[in-house]
Amino acid sequence: MHEFVTHEFDVLVVGAGGAGLRAAIEASAAGVKVGVVTKSLLGKAHTVMAEGGIAAAMGNVDDRDNWRVHFADTMRGGQYLNNWRMAELHAKEAPARVRELEAWGAVFDRTKDGRILQRNFGGHRYPRLAHVGDRTGLEMIRTLQDHGVHQGIDFHMEHTILTLLKDGDRCVGAFGYDRERGRFKLFHAKAVVLATGGIGRAFKITSNSWEYTGDGQSLAFQAGASLLDMEFVQFHPTGMIWPPSVMGILVTEGVRGEGGVLRNRDGKRFMFDDIPAAYKNQTADSEEEGWRYTQGDKTARRPPDLLTRDHVARCIRREVKEGRGSPHGGAFLDIAWIKERIPNSAEHIKKKLPSMYHQFKQLADLDITKEPMEVGPTTHYMMGGIEVDGDTQMSTVPGLFAAGECAAGLHGANRLGGNSLSDLVVFGKRAGEFAARFSQEHGAGSINTDQVEQSARRSLEPFERGAAGENPYAIQHELQETMQDLVGIVRTGEEMERALDEIGKLRARMAKAGITGNREYNNGWHTAIDLHNLLTVSEIVARAGIERKESRGAHFRDDYPARDDQWGGVNIRIRPSADGGPKVEHVPRKEMPDELRRVIAENK
Ligand SMILES: Cc1cc2nc3c(=O)[nH]c(=O)nc-3n(C[C@H](O)[C@H](O)[C@H](O)COP(=O)(O)OP(=O)(O)OC[C@H]3O[C@@H](n4cnc5c(N)ncnc54)[C@H](O)[C@@H]3O)c2cc1C
Repeated sequence: MHEFVTHEFDVLVVGAGGAGLRAAIEASAAGVKVGVVTKSLLGKAHTVMAEGGIAAAMGNVDDRDNWRVHFADTMRGGQYLNNWRMAELHAKEAPARVRELEAWGAVFDRTKDGRILQRNFGGHRYPRLAHVGDRTGLEMIRTLQDHGVHQGIDFHMEHTILTLLKDGDRCVGAFGYDRERGRFKLFHAKAVVLATGGIGRAFKITSNSWEYTGDGQSLAFQAGASLLDMEFVQFHPTGMIWPPSVMGILVTEGVRGEGGVLRNRDGKRFMFDDIPAAYKNQTADSEEEGWRYTQGDKTARRPPDLLTRDHVARCIRREVKEGRGSPHGGAFLDIAWIKERIPNSAEHIKKKLPSMYHQFKQLADLDITKEPMEVGPTTHYMMGGIEVDGDTQMSTVPGLFAAGECAAGLHGANRLGGNSLSDLVVFGKRAGEFAARFSQEHGAGSINTDQVEQSARRSLEPFERGAAGENPYAIQHELQETMQDLVGIVRTGEEMERALDEIGKLRARMAKAGITGNREYNNGWHTAIDLHNLLTVSEIVARAGIERKESRGAHFRDDYPARDDQWGGVNIRIRPSADGGPKVEHVPRKEMPDELRRVIAENK
């Protein structure tokens, strides 16, 4: 029998990013006992990296904006596969959540008359992103943390959850270990909120941090929950591509929002060459009009550089494939050109995009106020995730809730920039509220010690194999290569089938992986544990990708390059079958109420 310490909570939140912190604050405000577990230190969750801003239709910069336009933009961006109820709640509630952040101390950039400033971003009709330069996530996490630590929430930093605990169908807690000493911990809770973020570390080129190993999606799946829309992985068009050591690091869309433009090796603005029909009416037809839009001219339309991320990423890929890419296989992103239009442009760029300026100066020895950047697509965001009820955020497992990037629904086939930070606070709050309510309505379930024992034993197996086992890093590296090459930005059925074969082989190798050393801060051990989650979600992404035989949003298939209306009415759900393997189902979309249909029609 392995030893472990037990903690008792009403609500356990797994994750201390924007979604987890907001959920914890809300649950705590309902008067229940709340614990938060996070793999990293408080303040280091991935949310801290968010740059460009948080989308909310406050109408501070353009008073034509309102929830109806934001809802229609989000649905169009998601190619209508979004959970419309979530898109509605999100558009309606985001402004209140941003004002709440302000009331809790967030210092947003300001308009001249002292209101929260909002900037342009891809796919948003009006300037909508409240921001703090290009360090919005930092301010958000600081604010939520400052607020949260005064609520009596019990934080467990550097703890990794290994398994969710069940009592019959219901989730009654989680079991994990502390990374510092490697001691096991049991968190007994009446309700659990997963807020563990994305899966980007399944790919070789990614903007995501080390934490993004798909833990929440994998834990939920193993606990019997369904996953939805897992074929939709967002490849952000602008990651750094040079030098190789920094490949994948994000270059915020805010650069294009501030007037930056994409050019190919011949200096051509190639984004004007292919404007999707759904965006024709809203897109500038000259460079001049596009520039005026970025400078706040309300009569101008958005430049095509600010089309949705899926489209921009594919246009860059097309330029590269057809021999017009930049020297290192991407495109040029040029903000320096605005010196032709703005006096003091260098100061202006440094003020608006301080992190980008430093990022390129320090990592690539390039001054973005003088020279164009070289950029290319990078794995960025997971639209799919744990299937939840749109109002309560409860998953298909009673007592298990999910919010933020690990949950599915809001974004459909493609997320608009800025809609994640607002997702975190809108649905983090809801998850916290309804998890607290669930905990007040249900007693503490029983813990199955066999389940705990099995999880502890399985997690320690790599130590038993020791140096004789294969290094888990090597397996992780090969998985990343496989996903990048075969389930990447453009896929085919044959490639994804090959990926499944490879994943099967890697899984067999993982079962023989070994690590040395002891349990204290043992990175090899952490990697072996992460690998299990990465393999689970990678397989599910490939299976969902094979199933959707069309191209839509972030899912582009070379063997089915067109959008197919039949698939527009279906979400793909993957849930565990009786033997624990993934079972694929088609979920017909619920009819949208007439009122929401009208909103979409009036914003065509
Ligand atoms: C570079 C970059 C810039 C971005 N900019 C923007 C932007 O400007 N606007 C926008 O809307 N979106 C942006 N995004 C996306 C956005 O930042 C993320 O989608 C969002 O922050 C995710 O928040 P979250 O609360 O869901 O998860 P996170 O903030 O990632 O938090 C996850 C938490 O879960 C914990 N965790 C994970 N697994 C376990 C486990 N097994 N046990 C215990 N704890 C665990 C982690 O330690 C962490 O605390 C950006 C993303 C990147 C990469």
